[in-house]
Amino acid sequence: MKRTTQRSRACFDRFERRLHARAKANVHPPNNEESKMTTRTSFLALTILLVPALTAFAGMDYPMKCKNCGFTCRVQIGGGMGFEQITGFCVEAGKFVYLQWKRGEKKPEPMAKVWDSATGKMIEIYKCPDCPQPFIPLRRKANDADGPGFDHCPKCGKQTFQVDKAQGIIAFD
Ligand SMILES: [Zn+2]
Ligand SMILES: [Zn+2]
Repeated sequence: MKRTTQRSRACFDRFERRLHARAKANVHPPNNEESKMTTRTSFLALTILLVPALTAFAGMDYPMKCKNCGFTCRVQIGGGMGFEQITGFCVEAGKFVYLQWKRGEKKPEPMAKVWDSATGKMIEIYKCPDCPQPFIPLRRKANDADGPGFDHCPKCGKQTFQVDKAQGIIAFD
């Protein structure tokens, strides 16, 4: 964790130097409004740089509940300090499953690749770690700070799968 923080600090310092170099290169002396803007930009940049760095090796564990069918479960997204994992839903077992490997080691090979005409993209399919059935890694929206980044319920298919606010979201590493 510490190493990550230092790295992101160094990253931010580089950004600061670039920002100052750019300010110096500016022929007009910065007026108040501009320097206020610079401060705001720096703060924003710090937030953007630090948040992913601090959570880079921390996974999130979300309590989920479907408002339509009532299905409840916890879903883990991301790996920890020592491991990485792919999350998917095993239809056979009716639960979320996790394909894990040690951080730094090679990611497991998919059992198949299929082409999805809806997106034009190739989808990698993995073997469920608990049974012989295949699963597709969760396909999530990026930058979802409040939830796991998807809202389709794996049981009823409706977009009513939400974080159960009565329970806590847990970060793990
Ligand atoms: Zn399975
Ligand atoms: Zn449901």
